[in-house]
This record gives sequence, C-alpha cells and structure tokens, in this order.
Amino acid sequence: MQIIHDILKGKDTEAYVSKIINRLMDRYSDRLHTELAHRNMTELFVAVLLSPQCSDRQVNVVTKDLFRKYKTFDDYANADLRKLTKDVSGLNYYRTKARNLRSAARMIVDKFNGDVPTAINQIMELHGVGRKVANVILNEGFGISEQGIAIDTHCITVSQRLGLTRHKTADKIEIDLMKRVPKKDWKVVSNLFIALGRDTCTARKKFCGRCILKDICPSSEA
Ligand code: SF4
Repeated sequence: MQIIHDILKGKDTEAYVSKIINRLMDRYSDRLHTELAHRNMTELFVAVLLSPQCSDRQVNVVTKDLFRKYKTFDDYANADLRKLTKDVSGLNYYRTKARNLRSAARMIVDKFNGDVPTAINQIMELHGVGRKVANVILNEGFGISEQGIAIDTHCITVSQRLGLTRHKTADKIEIDLMKRVPKKDWKVVSNLFIALGRDTCTARKKFCGRCILKDICPSSEA
C-alpha cells in the first residue's frame, strides 16, 4: 500500500499514467469500443440499459431477437410489459430491466422528443440509468467523453491495483480517475481498463507474468 501511496503523491504521477495509457493503447487499440452489439442510438441505449450484472455476450444473445421486434423508442414505450419482460428474460434482473426500459423509453418520447439527451444529468433522469450507463451512452453514442468516465467492475479492479485509487465505490473511483487521467484520454481509458481486466488483471486472479504493465504496476507479482 505504501508504494501506491508514493506513486500518487509523487511528481511522476503524470508520467506513470501516460505510460499506462500508451502501453494499453499499443496492445488494445482494437478494443476501444463496447462489445455490445448495436446499429444505432436506440439499440445502443437499450443494450447498455440491459447490460448491468450481465456479460456482453449474454446481452447480445437477448438483443439479437429483441431488436427484430422493437425498432424505435415508441415501440418500447408502447410495449406490453408482460411480453417485453419475456423478451428480456434471458438476463439477470430482467423484470426490473423490462420495467425500466419501458419507462425510460416513455420519458425519451414524452420529455425529449424521441431523442436520447446529451447532458449526463438528463440521461440520468431516465429510469434505470446510473452514471456508468450514462457515460457509456455518451461516449459510444455521441462521442462525448468530457462529462465523465464509465466505471465497471474491471475498471474498479484495475484502477485499484494500479494505485490510481484507494476507493471502492464507482463514483469515488471515477472522481480519482478524472483527476489523474488527462481529459483527452477519458474516452478510451474505460475500455482499455476493461480489456486489461479481461485479459490479465481479472478480479479472480492476476496474471502478472504476462501483463504489459508488470514492471511499473505497484501490485505486480511478476
Ligand atoms: S501487473 Fe498484475 S496487478 Fe498489475 S495490472 Fe498487470 S495483472 Fe494487474
């Protein structure tokens, strides 16, 4: 823990973060976008809203059929809740997600003229949308990254092990990353950490021996 403390306090923090981002960019430049399948803003919104507590693969299986049945926010807003619930029943927390999806779609239609808003506070007014979901929608859907950084479980694990945060909650970790990662990298840092988290820095086990950050990471066991 002392090493982590020193890195964060030291004057080399900027160089340290820059080294992390550059190496991850070199290795994972093909993984800078979400793996949730979508062809437009409506599909992205729906996929991201359905994604918490599920793997991207699980969501993609469900949305393959879902997107054939529902094309627009009007379709979701006017959906029969029992049918919609059945259509997303392959996902964890599907009952809540179906309710949130229909409510969010109704709000998009009624309050935002059928368009997903581009301000994070407005997106977070929609049912079922927390900061992480809002950040992914802004980043992937609109190319807007200056309002925050999407923090998922991989980002939490990787940020902690790299010594970029001491916090445990996503909201506090997002604030730490926004302080330490240059703004120009906000649009990529989340997907880069996800790629590393899936590859070598998994929550269950660290594969430091084959990690590209093993010589600079304070938690390295290599
Ligand atoms: S060196 Fe180990 S702990 Fe550090 S980022 Fe890589 S896998 Fe994770």
